[in-house]
Amino acid sequence: MSLSKLEIEQLLKLIGRTADQELNCEQCLARVAEFAESQLSGKSIPAGLRTVEQHLAVCGECREEYEALWQTLNSLRGGSDV
Ligand SMILES: [Zn+2]
Repeated sequence: MSLSKLEIEQLLKLIGRTADQELNCEQCLARVAEFAESQLSGKSIPAGLRTVEQHLAVCGECREEYEALWQTLNSLRGGSDV
């Protein structure tokens, strides 16, 4: 299966548009655990979680929530980073 150039362009536009959408705090907090786990796993951040990352960059409240969650997850994993 191969995509035509036009189909690729349409896909890229779709991805671009999605990434431009901003989350509100509620939507961000709904996915922040997923984001923290993805960070801890050391994998690259899935495109779907980029908006969470963007929101955390601009919203201190959600970032506090994320950092608390991150620390909890990290200690559950027995992280040696003390
Ligand atoms: Zn927020």
